Amino acid sequence: MDLTFADVLAAREVVRRHLPPTPMWNYPVLDAAAGATVHVKHENVQPVGAFKIRGGLTLLDAMSPDDRARGTVTYSTGNHAQSLAYASALFGVPCTIVMPAAANPAKAAAVRSHGAEVVLTGDNLEAAQRHAEQLAERKGARLVSPGDTPELLAGVGTLYLEILEAQPDLDLLVVPVGSGTGASAATVVARELAPRCRVIGVQSAASPAAHDSWRAGTLLQRPNRTRVDGLATGRGYALPQRILAAGLADFLLVTDDEIGEAQRLLATHAHTLAEGAGAAALAAVLTRQNLFANRTVAVVCTGGNADAAELRALGTPP
Ligand SMILES: *Cc1c(COP(=O)(O)O)cnc(C)c1O
Repeated sequence: MDLTFADVLAAREVVRRHLPPTPMWNYPVLDAAAGATVHVKHENVQPVGAFKIRGGLTLLDAMSPDDRARGTVTYSTGNHAQSLAYASALFGVPCTIVMPAAANPAKAAAVRSHGAEVVLTGDNLEAAQRHAEQLAERKGARLVSPGDTPELLAGVGTLYLEILEAQPDLDLLVVPVGSGTGASAATVVARELAPRCRVIGVQSAASPAAHDSWRAGTLLQRPNRTRVDGLATGRGYALPQRILAAGLADFLLVTDDEIGEAQRLLATHAHTLAEGAGAAALAAVLTRQNLFANRTVAVVCTGGNADAAELRALGTPP
């Protein structure tokens, strides 16, 4: 079994030593706008601004003292980088993050602020990945795949324990997908706690690799053109895709503009600052009335790391 419910329960013992549960609120004005009962799970309030911290802590906790001494290496431009840097620092483990040369300087600075070393190299994330692999080999460090690492799935699954213990009668649970760690863990938890609840994935139509891989039943590469960072992947990841194949009820695509509209609605109707990826689930609810009208739905606001340019763009809708 790739990920069991027991793995997620064990991860909760780790996560709860470091982080309180996050709030989940319902906003009647948002319900009215969405035409559904919407519970918003607030992972944007995590210390690194996103749910991935749960996975980072679970991974570092599981590493042996020997492995910790050798350190961690990963490749990412976004929240996975911050999560691994934060968790590595907490456990006193050296951490190196490889980012493409043109990475957003604010993101590199955020990672450095957690004490990690940042290596800027290559034209894209694939090139950064190759460099990270060589670096990990040379250092003897643990190379952490953002998608194919079971401890990360177990850790992020704790978020779905919190949601489904609070609202076991949900009709639908809507999860934004990049590599698919969050959505795949959600299906494992839902099967156990709320078998009637359908787990729905959402990705940007401009970066549909996970969506297309799930529909095709095989790992695919796709153009990666979304401006929504957390959802920007160019390929399907094997481990989450295996789990999603068995457990995901449906997978929807939304446009980047629809995501922007949902971000604005979270700001005005739920006093919540979401980054694009954190609003994608709500974007699906707003644009697929046939699926969601009058149902009880949870949407995960997975993160709030919107930078200044993203905030400016929200202020001037297309
Ligand atoms: C990484 C990320 C996602 C996508 O999660 P996966 O587990 O990679 O599918 C969604 N939202 C935010 C804010 C993220 O950082």
